[in-house]
Amino acid sequence: MAEETIFSKIIRQEIPTPLLYQDELVTAFRDITPQASTHILIIPNKLIPTINDVNEADELTLGRMITVAKKLAKEEGIDENGYRLIMNCNEHGGQEVYHLHMHLVGGQPLGKMLNI
Ligand code: AMP
Repeated sequence: MAEETIFSKIIRQEIPTPLLYQDELVTAFRDITPQASTHILIIPNKLIPTINDVNEADELTLGRMITVAKKLAKEEGIDENGYRLIMNCNEHGGQEVYHLHMHLVGGQPLGKMLNI
C-alpha cells in the first residue's frame, strides 16, 4: 500500500489550499514554490505514486489531467503564447512528491526543455 503524501490532504482539504479545479477524478492547485509566473499542479484524486504505477484503468484519469490543463491554461490566459506540461518520475526525473502530478508552467518564455 503506497504511503499518502501531503497531496492527499490537499485533495480532502484537510490542508486549506485553494483549489483551482476539482472533480471526481482530478484536483488542481497552485504550486507552493512556483518556477514560472503560472505554475499549477494537476493530480489524480487516487493515490498513484509514480508514472511507473499507472495502469490501463487510469487512462481516463490521465486524459482528464490533460483536458483540465488545457482549460486552466485558457483561464490563466497563457494558452495562445504556450506553456509546458511536465511529469517527473523517480530520482533521475527529479520527483519529490510521490503522488503523481502534472506541472502546468507558463506565463513567460520557458527556454529550452532540459537544463542538465
Ligand atoms: P516534483 O519535483 O515533480 O515531485 O514536484 C513536486 C512539487 O510539489 C514541487 O514543485 C513543490 O513545490 C510542490 N509542492 C510541495 N508541497 C506543496 C504544497 N503543500 N502545495 C503546493 N505545492 C506543493
